[in-house]
Amino acid sequence: MYIQEISIDIKSKVSKDELIGEFHTLMSFYRGSGQTQGKIESQYITGNKIVCLPYTLEKNSLARKYNNFYVNKQTKKVEDICKSSLLFRTVGRSYNSYKSPCTCKKSAFFILITNYISIDSPLTCGTCNRTVPLYRLPVYHDYGYMPILSWETNYISCDSLQMNCKVGERWALNQMQEIKSQLSGQGLEICKTIEKLTSIPTYYYLHNYRKLKGDQLVVPCPGCNKKWSLKEQLHNLYDFKCDRCKIVSTISPNT
Ligand SMILES: [Zn+2]
Ligand SMILES: [Zn+2]
Repeated sequence: MYIQEISIDIKSKVSKDELIGEFHTLMSFYRGSGQTQGKIESQYITGNKIVCLPYTLEKNSLARKYNNFYVNKQTKKVEDICKSSLLFRTVGRSYNSYKSPCTCKKSAFFILITNYISIDSPLTCGTCNRTVPLYRLPVYHDYGYMPILSWETNYISCDSLQMNCKVGERWALNQMQEIKSQLSGQGLEICKTIEKLTSIPTYYYLHNYRKLKGDQLVVPCPGCNKKWSLKEQLHNLYDFKCDRCKIVSTISPNT
């Protein structure tokens, strides 16, 4: 990922605490427009300057052309309060071999998938298996992508419970594994909407679906009850794919 620096010089007598709140709102709008990743950017005041260091998927993710109505409105508000303009600078990359997001002209399909440590986009390209910045999609809802990001937060919450083991582990695992869970229902609905908006088939990832019994993949698709095991693993990851139900999954290592 790229680490960007967004900063502004405070040239007015505004309360810095009020301003940091407004800046925080701007950052949450950047997230909603799909331009920044995660909710973990550093934000601080130094002298008469506010600085924030968000993650982005592309070097130019913060380009004005990707701004939505809310980002533009809040940018103006912050600039008016400070009596100066926002400044943008790319600080660096998270690691040297960082691969850029999907660059396919047209993806064969998309997959909605995330996990408890991911700050990538929750949408990956089925052709190249790289992440797809949300701002490349048509607007999903209210100028941005918040419903997709709230599914992502729900999924990450369940995956965190599952990883931590002590509280709600079984419940969380069921939310991620069962096609009829509330979490899967929310995710499948999002897949349908993305498919409608883009005309690209969009699959939902069901967590580590089912297991080997001896050498056989015995469990059929939980949606249509038909065979869904793949002859060859897809992207060294997926073992199951049902084109009717638009779901993919992997074999659980815990038999
Ligand atoms: Zn791609
Ligand atoms: Zn199926």
